[in-house]
Amino acid sequence: MNVLRAFKTELDLNNRQKTACTQHAGAARWAYNWGLARMIEAYNAGEKTPSAIDLNRELNALKKGELAWMYEVSKCAPQEALRNLDQAFDNFFRRVKEKKAGKKIQVGFPRFKSKKKGLGSFRLTGSIHVFEKAIQLPRLGRLRLKESGYLPGGDVHTLNATVSEHAGRWFVSVQVEMDLPDQTHRAAFGVGQTAKPVAGVDLGILALATVSDGTRIENPRAIKHSLGKIKRLQRSVSRRQAGSANRRKAVQQLARAHIRVANIRRDTLHQATSLLARTKSAVVLEDLNVSGMMKNHHLAQAIADVGMYEFRRQMSYKGEWYGCEVLFADRFYPSTKRCSRCGNVKPEFDLSERVYKCEVCHLIIDRDLNAALNLERWPTASSAERHACGEGVRPGRPAVLDEAGTEPRSTMCRFA
Ligand SMILES: [Zn+2]
Repeated sequence: MNVLRAFKTELDLNNRQKTACTQHAGAARWAYNWGLARMIEAYNAGEKTPSAIDLNRELNALKKGELAWMYEVSKCAPQEALRNLDQAFDNFFRRVKEKKAGKKIQVGFPRFKSKKKGLGSFRLTGSIHVFEKAIQLPRLGRLRLKESGYLPGGDVHTLNATVSEHAGRWFVSVQVEMDLPDQTHRAAFGVGQTAKPVAGVDLGILALATVSDGTRIENPRAIKHSLGKIKRLQRSVSRRQAGSANRRKAVQQLARAHIRVANIRRDTLHQATSLLARTKSAVVLEDLNVSGMMKNHHLAQAIADVGMYEFRRQMSYKGEWYGCEVLFADRFYPSTKRCSRCGNVKPEFDLSERVYKCEVCHLIIDRDLNAALNLERWPTASSAERHACGEGVRPGRPAVLDEAGTEPRSTMCRFA
């Protein structure tokens, strides 16, 4: 099975290379904005809107005259930007159609790219070579990587590379075509077999994730430290005068701190989702209450929310690669209020309580682990159980889990 995969990592550029990348990003933005203006012009004049190929031809003609500076950058940069523009219009028209068909979505016309939002990005195709500690790109030559050995080299087919700037740091993302072992190969490696267990996963703020087999994936310490820093920087930004150079500097520092947290968190998430996708036959997650999330202004919670989206996203595509089913328990399922041993549902269970104590069977268990165990059994729960949320005390379920008791969880699947 062939799959497309993207790998993103940070570049270690010298000043000359930074200038070259800035130029490329500038050319890409110029071409995009110029193309967008041309499209609008043609549309207003009642003409047929030009395609990416038309625009590219027009641009090449301009290069011979006033746009001679564009010869300094790879021809891919403007060309790929025009392709992006084409895509933006395709998306726009598709969404207009969907809206007309009654879908409740917001449709935005493609916008001009602003320099204020950062230096931007550009995409290159053609001869791209990955080395242990560097990547070689057309026109830009060999660029050093901050992390060695992360990008897949060797005989994988690299389709393109996108270079982007974020808060003063430069990144490269390469898209590669990979051949995943098919089902029979997977079985030989112990992957994709039905004997693998089902796992419930509770995503939280204190622990990043708690798995029903007892595994706890902690938040990296660096995050807590960075959160304090972010709060400080946020205050510093709001103290500075709008439009001042000092405020701009503070905003940039804040952006850097945010990226750091996001990077650390993403790394940890990747490790967790890979492990789960490889070793479980199915993973049950809590469905997200999106509207409740948007209202949240608490920093730690906001970052945890982003992590949950990312966890879900990674889990979904990795699940497909490794043959692990990803299920979502609906949000009426009382995964936190329910006792994972006897099935009793508490009418109230405060967010601040870290330990779940069952009044019926006297089980004492970590709150997150209890939730994870409930999620694990969601696929086999009856519909009455699934919607028992907040409906008071329910009679205990037949004690299927009695033998397991409060002993450490085994990874064996009890519901397969
Ligand atoms: Zn109980």
